[in-house]
Amino acid sequence: MNAKNTKRIVVKVGSSLVTNNGEGLDHAAIGMWAEQIAALLNSGHEVLMVSSGAIAEGMQRLGWTKRPQEIHQLQAAAAIGQMGLVQVYESCFARFNLRSAQILLTNADLANSERNANAKATLETLLKLGVVPIINENDTVVTDEIKFGDNDSLAALVSNLIHADLLVILTDQGGLYTADPRQHADASLLSDAIAGDPALEKMAGGAASELSKGGMLTKVLAAKIAAQMGASTVIASGREPNVLTRLLEGEKIGTHLSSAPNS
Ligand code: GLU
Repeated sequence: MNAKNTKRIVVKVGSSLVTNNGEGLDHAAIGMWAEQIAALLNSGHEVLMVSSGAIAEGMQRLGWTKRPQEIHQLQAAAAIGQMGLVQVYESCFARFNLRSAQILLTNADLANSERNANAKATLETLLKLGVVPIINENDTVVTDEIKFGDNDSLAALVSNLIHADLLVILTDQGGLYTADPRQHADASLLSDAIAGDPALEKMAGGAASELSKGGMLTKVLAAKIAAQMGASTVIASGREPNVLTRLLEGEKIGTHLSSAPNS
């Protein structure tokens, strides 16, 4: 990755990371990402976040220990949890004198030209104001993310919408492995590949957990979507210390999926 030419960055974080594997919103982790994003903004970058975690937080607030099957109960949990989610983001960013803003979107919003133009204009305005948009799927009206872990693809569509240079997908694993490391002891971390290479989809197949609905496959597919508008994607561990600032200093962490062979 050419860190020098990377100005606009979309950072996607999944439920397991945001809620420390379902134990409740991880203030410390969100605080660390906020600190790194504050440093990136100071060095002239623009950062947007796509964050899941609403359902997990909603379940916590409702005292539900088992994830319900019923979709409207999940949507209700998301509506409750979204309040807590943005509260934590707001207070963590405020510690670094940054403002954040809540954006709830659907893939269908972005497919509609008028809504797409409105979302783009709002995001551009927020970035100009130095505010960090915190985006989640609008779970009240759609269920793509609830069913398929589609915040990965939402993050890629957002990246394309605002012509981001880099999509960083933070997860609870070190990156993309040649096979599922939980089942294959000889699996090794893939450090570089070309986004859209069909071999990646084979490697990524199936590795989802109860909290991380998407697993690796939706991440690899998101990288393919983001590459259409020229953004490269990095899949890395959100628990790696200073992962964002180190990546933007050019350090190799996780899996780098280039949008073009020489980027
Ligand atoms: N957008 C939802 C959230 O933030 C969905 C994630 C899920 O299915 O657990 O919680």
